[in-house]
Order: sequence, then C-alpha cells, then structure tokens
Amino acid sequence: MLCRFPVRDRQKGGRRITLFLPAVIGAGPVGLAAAAHLITRGIEPIVFERGETVGASLLEWGHVQVFSPWTYNIDAAARSLLEAAGWSAPAADGLPTGSEIVRSYLAPLAALPAIAPNIRLGSTVIAVTREGLDKLSSTNRAGAPFVVRFADGNGNEEQVRVRAVIDASGTWTQPNPIGIDGLPVAGEAAATDRIAYGIPDVSGARRKDYAGKRVLVIGGGHSAINTALALMELQETAPGTEVFWALRRKGVERLLGGGLNDQLPARGALGLAARQTMNEGRLTMLAPFTVERISRQPDHVAVAARLDGTPFPLTVDRIVVATGFRPDFSFLRELRLALDPAVEAPPALAPLIDPNFHSCGTVPPHGVAELAHPEPGFTIVGSKSYGRAPTFLMATGYEQVRSVVAEIAGDHKAAREVRLVLPETGVCSADHIVGSDPSAGCCGGPAPAAIDACCAADASAKAAGRSGCGCGGPAKMPGPGNGRTDGIVEIAG
Ligand SMILES: Cc1cc2nc3c(=O)[nH]c(=O)nc-3n(C[C@H](O)[C@H](O)[C@H](O)COP(=O)(O)OP(=O)(O)OC[C@H]3O[C@@H](n4cnc5c(N)ncnc54)[C@H](O)[C@@H]3O)c2cc1C
Repeated sequence: MLCRFPVRDRQKGGRRITLFLPAVIGAGPVGLAAAAHLITRGIEPIVFERGETVGASLLEWGHVQVFSPWTYNIDAAARSLLEAAGWSAPAADGLPTGSEIVRSYLAPLAALPAIAPNIRLGSTVIAVTREGLDKLSSTNRAGAPFVVRFADGNGNEEQVRVRAVIDASGTWTQPNPIGIDGLPVAGEAAATDRIAYGIPDVSGARRKDYAGKRVLVIGGGHSAINTALALMELQETAPGTEVFWALRRKGVERLLGGGLNDQLPARGALGLAARQTMNEGRLTMLAPFTVERISRQPDHVAVAARLDGTPFPLTVDRIVVATGFRPDFSFLRELRLALDPAVEAPPALAPLIDPNFHSCGTVPPHGVAELAHPEPGFTIVGSKSYGRAPTFLMATGYEQVRSVVAEIAGDHKAAREVRLVLPETGVCSADHIVGSDPSAGCCGGPAPAAIDACCAADASAKAAGRSGCGCGGPAKMPGPGNGRTDGIVEIAG
C-alpha cells in the first residue's frame, strides 16, 4: 500500500491535475525515463539532480561511444513525449557517445514544458526517511510520507514530503578502489592526483597527462578495454606511451567478451580489438595482479604488487582504476532495505545478475516485484539497482521504471507484465567458467568460434534442434515468475 500523500491539486491547461509528487533521485537516463512515465500517467514528480545539467554522470564519460545502438537507449514514454513535441529520434542503429546521449536525447527531454518545471538541478539528495519515524519505528510506517532532504551547492538544506521515492542515482560517483579486498591500498588516498577512476579521456581532453607516460590500467571490464585501446591509439602519435594492463584475477577470456556471438556488435568488437592488441605485443598484460601498496614520489608512482603471487615492483606515471562501481546507500540509512549480502541488489534480482553464477551475460527483464524493498513506496532502479553487478543496460532500466511507475499509479496489472526482450551477449562471465578449465562452467564454456551461440551448451542445444540452452534468452524467472518463454513474465500479485 502506498500512502496517498501529499495530494495537491491545481489547474493546468484547463485540466485539474492531482499531484502526488513522487520524488525521483537522479536525472540520468533512467531517472528521466521515470519522470516521463509519471508525467504520461498524469503524476508530477520532483526530480533531484546533483549536477548542474541532466545526465551529469554520462557527461563525465561523455567521450566514450556506447555499445548499445539508439534503439535500445531511448525509453518508450520519453520518445512519445519528445515526438509529440516535434523531436526526431537519431538513426536507430547509430552508436552515440555519452555526451551525444545527453545532447540529443536527455537535454531535449528535460527541456519539455511538461518535465522542465519538475527538475531541481544542483540538488544533491543527502537523506531519505519516513516522516516522524526512524528506521526502528514501525507504527503506521507504510502510511507515513517520505521526507527527502537535499542540499544545494552552497550547503543550504531543504526537504520535501513525498508519497513515493524512486532512487535512480546510479553508481558512477562511487568507484571501487584498487584493493582486491575492496579497500583502498596503502598510499592510494595520497596519490589521487596520479590516479583516475572510471574511464578518463586519455587520448582527448586528458591527453597531456598520458602522452609519452607509463600507465597502469587496472580492471577487466569494458571500461578497462576502452581505456587500453585509447592508450594504444595515443601510442601511435606519442610513441613513448607504455601501457601495463593488470587483471586482478586470472583469465582474459571474460574480458575479451563474446566477440562475434555478442548481439551488441560494438561490445563484441571491443573484445576482439583488445585481443588483437595483445597478440601484437603492444602492451604488457599482467594477470593475476594484486597491488599491495602505492607510494607517491615527486615524479612517479611506485607500485608494490604481486604478479601470480611473486613480488612485482612497478614504476608508473599514472594509474587508471577501472574496477567497477558500487552503490551509495549512505543517504538511505533510515530506510528499511533488503539487499543481497554479496551483490547489494534486491534479493529477488541478485541471483539473476550475480557475476559469480550468472553465465552468458543476459539478464531477464524484471520489474517492481523483483525490485521491492520492505519499505512500501521506495524503489531503487537503474544501474544502482544492480548493486555491484556490472552488466546493466539502459533498456533494462526503462523496463524497470515502466513497471515501477505503473505500480505507483495503481495499475498493478501493467506493473506485473514484463515486455522487454534484451539483446544477448555471448560471454560466459563467471570466473569458474572462464578459468583454466573452460568446460567446467554451467554452460560448458565459450561456443565454438564459427557457431552462432552464446556458449557451448547453447551450441549443442541448437545443433540438436532446440532454440538454445535457455541461459541467454528471455529466461524463466525464479521465484514468482510463471516460466513463459515469450518474453512476458506474469508475477503473482
Ligand atoms: C563507460 C560506460 C559505458 C557504458 N555503455 C553502455 C551502453 O553501451 N549501453 C547501456 O545501456 N549502458 C551503458 N553503460 C551503463 C550506463 O551507465 C547506464 O546504462 C546508464 O548511465 C544508467 O543510467 P542511470 O540513470 O541508472 O544512472 P546514471 O546515468 O549514473 O545517472 C544517475 C544520475 O543521478 C545523479 N545523482 C547521483 N547521486 C545523486 C544524489 N545523491 N542526488 C541527486 N542526484 C544524484 C547523477 O548526477 C546522475 O545524473 C555504460 C556505462 C559506462 C560507465
């Protein structure tokens, strides 16, 4: 039960609009999609964005070309609102950069007269609670409004009361540190001027920091591949540039991705390009590599590390840490959250995305039932909903907010339909699958190169005339799902 609070009526264009004021935290692609769905259903949200512009986190990696084409990057409700205002969508198969997503899609969306007045830029949410109730207090909890406290850049704090909260604040602001144990290594804090987290523009805006330098890239995901390839590009015009690419765990297959088997070809191509670079010997691959401490010297950084257990000291000019991100729950301290202890995603969602077990990269679409917390009216959506799991796609977030907003609007039937079919990826991602014995995994390791399948088991199933092994398709959902294979999952209310 959602509290019906606060309700505010006003005249708008001759129509009487009831304002329930759900709060949306974050004006990234998923937060703005939530706003579009709410507006479409006649519910006006208040959207808080820490940045001075929408899509502030995307702009921080704005130079990176994404691997999903426009067709997956535009939310359906947002598209309808935009097209009604005369906007033309970019070519469906184009691959935009982060900046282009903001410029061509998010900024026009945020500027629509129906949405613009609802966005509070430069407003960082610092706390969410139930009015008059701390986390321990249960009396009338579900009926109490939420209080959202936010701060502007000058340290001024304000708060609003809302009926529901959709947290779409992403994970970009919380990069993982260098330590393999999840902690910063000794000396990391003192060397931050020589360390970049995420995916710096090494061959563009930050070129002077990297040209002709010795650079250590740490990480095994697409951000690390992107950075290593950009450094290779830089090497062509700045020949002294040396690249050390460190994987914290052994095995490069996971990093090389599904290649030709990936239904997002740009993502597969990244892996193939990285493989070629390694074969050409243009960088030094270090795996498994564990940093123990770093020491900031006047003109370099001394790295004390182990390569496959053996001490391996290294001197570099800069370090790029691309070891993923983690969600920030600090401002949700007074809410009752249910989180998987490892993945930090809701318990019903975590098994679908846990990289320890999840093979073949594809995540079944899911909605409000999988995203629920024990705090009625509160939901985490978007990349933050995945906790520490790395494989989030915008399209997944759009389906999430369609379902969550339907629930807020009282349309429980629509909230429990799941309509999206996501592209498959051909990479088997669990460590035990891509380790020394590739046939040991649940899907039998990568598919033979010439076969259009996501894994060995998928290839065998297709050879036997079946549609596939099921690990990469619109899968049967655990828990409340009904196991339909037509992409629609009915979830008991
Ligand atoms: C390099 C890179 C490449 C990627 N490529 C793809 C791709 O090809 N396809 C794809 O689908 N996905 C891709 N992703 C994943 C992508 O990040 C997400 O799909 C998308 O950005 C998630 O959107 P979001 O709205 O959940 O979070 P974000 O985009 O992170 O937006 C969150 C917003 O919340 C704001 N915010 C944060 N904290 C607060 C706070 N306390 N108060 C107020 N506002 C706050 C931030 O400023 C930000 O604007 C990529 C990610 C990276 C880093």
